[in-house]
Amino acid sequence: MKLKDKVCIVTGAASGIGKEIALVYAREGGKIVIADLNLAAAQATAEELKGAGHQAMAIAMNVVDEAQVNAGIANVVEAWGQIDVLVSNAGIQIIHPVEDFPYEDWKKLLSIHLDGAFLTTKACLPHMYKAGSGSVIYMGSVHSKEASKLKSAYVTAKHGLIGLAKAVSKEGAEHGVRANVICPGFVRTPLVDKQIPEQAKTLGISEEDVIKKVMLADTVDGKFTTVEDVAEVALLFASFPSNALTGQSLVVSHGWFMQ
Ligand code: NAD
Repeated sequence: MKLKDKVCIVTGAASGIGKEIALVYAREGGKIVIADLNLAAAQATAEELKGAGHQAMAIAMNVVDEAQVNAGIANVVEAWGQIDVLVSNAGIQIIHPVEDFPYEDWKKLLSIHLDGAFLTTKACLPHMYKAGSGSVIYMGSVHSKEASKLKSAYVTAKHGLIGLAKAVSKEGAEHGVRANVICPGFVRTPLVDKQIPEQAKTLGISEEDVIKKVMLADTVDGKFTTVEDVAEVALLFASFPSNALTGQSLVVSHGWFMQ
């Protein structure tokens, strides 16, 4: 088991990609914290893990609420004594052309992705530094490297996470703390399912064409990336044993955006 007794906090783990990362980390022996805005769904995921014989807890956390983030992390440390892995994964999508992007929506999206990553990192680092080890993982996107129409706020936020990971890598190195970014292509989760009809409407094309001609057009094989694909990369970053792998971003996307 690659994460035996490691305390792993995954934000946004009540659904989609975060939930699968929680399942894989649990399979590898981790003690899993499901931190999500949606407490009922977080509790359901934690119960699912406990039912399968794993150790898990759910905490209510709005990642942009500093007091709630700090209290949540403090509760985890009180219960389990340490924090080994943070996956800053909670995120949303809002699409508009730049000229019509409501400022409130722009600020909301940037805040959840960037302020959320900052606040959770800030709260976890002292515990990782004290232990002399830790892994911080940010959920970026191919949109950390590349742009798409209608996604200016998301593209800006996801590019920003690469900067944060590089800064945390430099500061964390002397404490044995690594930071990396996962950059998935399109994955069929509620976040993406919501976008398909929205993009069809905005672009004036069919939902089938949104999938084929927009979402998967530049993949090597026309396939969606899966939650399992992303979770395996999250496991690599969480379990890698040294600072040799830090400050990096790994694209997992069926070849959409090759670097
Ligand atoms: P999802 O909608 O299935 O899950 C997102 C989770 O985040 C939900 O459980 C939601 O309750 C939670 N959340 C939202 N706002 C929150 C907040 N303020 N505080 C705490 N929790 C909050 O979405 P997903 O597709 O699994 O996305 C997870 C991450 O992966 C996001 O950062 C997203 O940008 C990124 N991503 C997704 C895809 C994709 O194609 N699905 C591709 C690349 C990157």
